[in-house]
Amino acid sequence: MLDQLERLKSTFGPHTPQSRAYDIVLYMVEKTLEQLQGGTSTPAPFTRENFIAACEKNPESKLQDPNKWTPKTPALEAALQLLQRDLPGPHLGLHEQKQVGGGRGKVNQYWLTLAEAEAAPKTEKAKTVDLDISYRQTDRGEVKPSLCLRWLFRDGELRTRSRKGIMFLGTLFLLSGTWILMYATSVLGLHLSHEPATMAQLTSLVFVSLCFAFVWRYVYHPWWQLIDHRVILAPGGAAALLEDPCQLEMYRRDSEKWIRLVRFSADCPLCGGTVELAKGRPDHRQPLVGRCQESPHYHVFSFDRSHQAGTYIGPPLPAALRARI
Ligand SMILES: [Zn+2]
Repeated sequence: MLDQLERLKSTFGPHTPQSRAYDIVLYMVEKTLEQLQGGTSTPAPFTRENFIAACEKNPESKLQDPNKWTPKTPALEAALQLLQRDLPGPHLGLHEQKQVGGGRGKVNQYWLTLAEAEAAPKTEKAKTVDLDISYRQTDRGEVKPSLCLRWLFRDGELRTRSRKGIMFLGTLFLLSGTWILMYATSVLGLHLSHEPATMAQLTSLVFVSLCFAFVWRYVYHPWWQLIDHRVILAPGGAAALLEDPCQLEMYRRDSEKWIRLVRFSADCPLCGGTVELAKGRPDHRQPLVGRCQESPHYHVFSFDRSHQAGTYIGPPLPAALRARI
């Protein structure tokens, strides 16, 4: 086991995928190796509290429930197996034991073991990979708005019927109406002028049309979509520059509508990568789907906002991925 741990650790580097599942596997490998090299014959098991304490970099997120924070076991297993793909066997496996702890409910424990020791009898049926995923969402105010919208989302959210909400949304809809009117006027003006169209006029019409389409698509249209779709990819300029891609969500609370910046993510059960929301097109009809960062066009999942859950909707999977022995 020591040899395999050392071999595996030597492969870690800048090319190692980065996700919550991979961070946990790297941590388990390094810690187990440290304990074995220090003379411990049976390394201490890991708990979800250990994982969040060691792998979560954001101090505010460390306070989350470790059970919700920790990826599901299939994602951890997938990350562990993919890291060992090019290494000679026997491979390391992940052993999980559910326990009932004093007063705190279930305390799951995890070990790294040599796969041979954990191998199931050959008569046992192959385990099918659970292709359902659960999304988690960032806490209120965790995704920082851009400087120009910070006054609007001061507590991380905006009540649409508040003074600020009405002012902002009203201005936005007024501006988008004006934008359409300006475009219509410029086209109509060209049409009504009885002079023959010159190349310069045609060029300026194409230019104005392109500008109109660009501004409409990236500035105004997303806010109109938010009303219908409830969750949309945050338009450019909504989130702070250094924020990772995030979404705008409209939701109901206390019979009021609220808007906030949020980031939905999950762990890919096929490879352990991070699943993030992205456009469904061109390969899917849904406006938003979950795409794995490691394989965005193959590891694709649906997104059900109400249940914060999804299931695999990508192309047919190879047999080796569908079942794990
Ligand atoms: Zn994946």
